[in-house]
Amino acid sequence: MDMDWISHLLFGLMLGAILLKDRSRQKMALVATASLLPDLDILWHHRSGLHSPLVLLTLALLTVIRNRALFAPLLVGFWSHSTLDIFLFDNSNHTIKNLANQVVTNDSLANNIEENITRYIAADGIMLFYPFSNEKFSITLNEESYTIMAGFIAAIAIFAAARLYFKEYRRR
Ligand SMILES: [Zn+2]
Repeated sequence: MDMDWISHLLFGLMLGAILLKDRSRQKMALVATASLLPDLDILWHHRSGLHSPLVLLTLALLTVIRNRALFAPLLVGFWSHSTLDIFLFDNSNHTIKNLANQVVTNDSLANNIEENITRYIAADGIMLFYPFSNEKFSITLNEESYTIMAGFIAAIAIFAAARLYFKEYRRR
């Protein structure tokens, strides 16, 4: 399993909260499952065609035959995974090590942590147009754009939480 499965889970649930009309516990559980499913390909070849938006769309469409209501939550979960995996983090300035060092205040230990994390996050994007092309696409984030992205995601999360809250409020 990827080390970033928590990010996938949170990002999927966040998008589900924003995009889905039906946010019942069942549907959100489906989003959560779908947001993790593409990483099952770690069993044969990580970041395979199972990360491709078109393949995932086909998988979601297959479920429509049985139950139409499954389509939206599955697709949101699936595509949230593809989206997140397009982004790569540029660690050339050893940001991870510096952050780790602030916590552990031990240079060699921080080095160790960085090595482990980079081994897990080492990736080269996803095959965006598979099965039509095997070319991998990625968007590399440096420290600055990473902060902007993190802020953007936090803003969306707050918006989604507020929307859920006011929906509850109106119901009363
Ligand atoms: Zn993945």
